Amino acid sequence: MSVTKKKSRTNPKRENGKSNTIKLKFDTSWSYAPAPESKSAASIKPQYDLFINGEWQKPLSKKYFETFNPATEEKLSEVADAGSADVDKAVKAARNAYDNVWKKMVPKERAKYIFRIARMIQERARELAIIETLDGGKPIRESRDFDVPTAANHFFYYAGWADKLEYAFPNRKAVPLGVAGQIIPWNFPLLMAAWKIAPAIATGNTVVLKTAESTPLTALKLAEIIEESGLPPGVVNIITGAGETGAALVNHPGVDKIAFTGSTDVGKIIQRAIAGTHKKATLELGGKAANIIFDDAPIDQAVEGVINGIYFNQGHVCCAGSRLYVQESIAKEVIRKLKDRMSSLIVGDPMDKNTDIGAINSRSQLETIQKYLKIGREEGAEMYESGCPLPGKGYWCRPTLFTNVAQSNRIAQEEIFGPVLSVLTFRTDDEVIEKANNSPYGLSAGVWTDKGSKIFNMTRRMRAGVIWANTFNKFDPSSPFGGYKESGFGREGGLHGLAAYVTLENV
Ligand code: NAP
Ligand code: MG
Repeated sequence: MSVTKKKSRTNPKRENGKSNTIKLKFDTSWSYAPAPESKSAASIKPQYDLFINGEWQKPLSKKYFETFNPATEEKLSEVADAGSADVDKAVKAARNAYDNVWKKMVPKERAKYIFRIARMIQERARELAIIETLDGGKPIRESRDFDVPTAANHFFYYAGWADKLEYAFPNRKAVPLGVAGQIIPWNFPLLMAAWKIAPAIATGNTVVLKTAESTPLTALKLAEIIEESGLPPGVVNIITGAGETGAALVNHPGVDKIAFTGSTDVGKIIQRAIAGTHKKATLELGGKAANIIFDDAPIDQAVEGVINGIYFNQGHVCCAGSRLYVQESIAKEVIRKLKDRMSSLIVGDPMDKNTDIGAINSRSQLETIQKYLKIGREEGAEMYESGCPLPGKGYWCRPTLFTNVAQSNRIAQEEIFGPVLSVLTFRTDDEVIEKANNSPYGLSAGVWTDKGSKIFNMTRRMRAGVIWANTFNKFDPSSPFGGYKESGFGREGGLHGLAAYVTLENV
């Protein structure tokens, strides 16, 4: 690694003709030699079938679709497009495994399989991280240090509960629901699969999981791990396909529970579809998290937390801190420090270990983000974007910050799902609580202050499922996660995550 330190300061430059767009000078004080991870440590097959009943089965639909690397626009593989007959086959396999094997198995035996899957994820960590980065565009640092270890941790955590459900629910008998239909988004493909599969099978349910269209590959690698682990056929079935495949799973009468993570719009469609049926559901939907900095906060730490909270994973995070509320007396200082920090973030090759911000997941997501950048400027906000050079191919968005934002602006109300931060100010506690809660969403929030009493006051009055204090975006399998309002209902993680897969009967 060659490191050179040069003196440099953020130097805002207005772009021609766009009075409210300012490009920050890219800070080259620290330049690192490239440190790319090797693609050769991962094997990706040219074609994947459906993992149904413990076997790789050709799709009855006879259709396949391609999955790409968003950083290079190169095709990585093609995967089966499951039609409704394939969904039916997978649900029947799950039902058969539930009735004849899994629900009858002694819980401590179930735990052994789940534990084994966790260990195998650890053993294949490097390969899984590489494939996650190639298929989804997120920096290798994140897939390696966050996604893959946290996925393994979920399996470890729920393996531990599998034979202790009587302690999780004292004086109650936890009865599995049956077949769980699980649908996941593209932002944390392996981690979302782990969040969903581990608690479901630990409580004795069987699973049909559908991956997101643009990021199927790590879930298919997980299917290979599950196959090798010797898990009885049909306990976990992993299928690939588009929205119609997800809809077929939701509408299948043989499914007892729907666990969905994705957009609020699709969450509403699912809720309508299952209304009046016996199906239970947990919906983890969108968010527009308020991150609040009080004037007594440790400002440098808060700035780093804000940067991590919105630019981490390209802002493709449902709980991203996309609305920043800064107390008025420190607003100037915080915004200056944010711009300085933004201008040193490296956007580029996700396989490079120095990269901070990788590729946007797909062309359509990039278009959505660009639409919001335009809306923000039209609404009169001032836009700052980093001057970081971008690669020629692929889908990229520089870290962006809006100041002069009004509470009613669309960029302060709607989920952008990109590296775009809206900065607003406040004077009093009551004002910021009012503003933070003024959102259709309620997934997460952050509070930065030196005073414990203020933290408790804020967390009590804010309507968000997860509130971080003096930190942001921290996850642990033992902590429940989920939303209020249009961010959905039900919790995943921890004991709450077990409860979502059982009915409790009197003993
Ligand atoms: P999405 O469009 O709602 O898709 C999510 C999943 O649902 C994908 O597998 C998708 O398949 C499938 N799907 C699409 N239409 C469907 C239908 N009618 N019936 C059943 N399934 C259907 O969301 P996304 O754009 O992939 O993900 C981004 C969204 O997820 C954001 O809003 C984000 O906030 C949210 N999210 C929430 C959490 C949380 O825990 N609350 C976590 C991560 C992401 P295709 O991929 O083929 O479209
Ligand atoms: Mg892809």
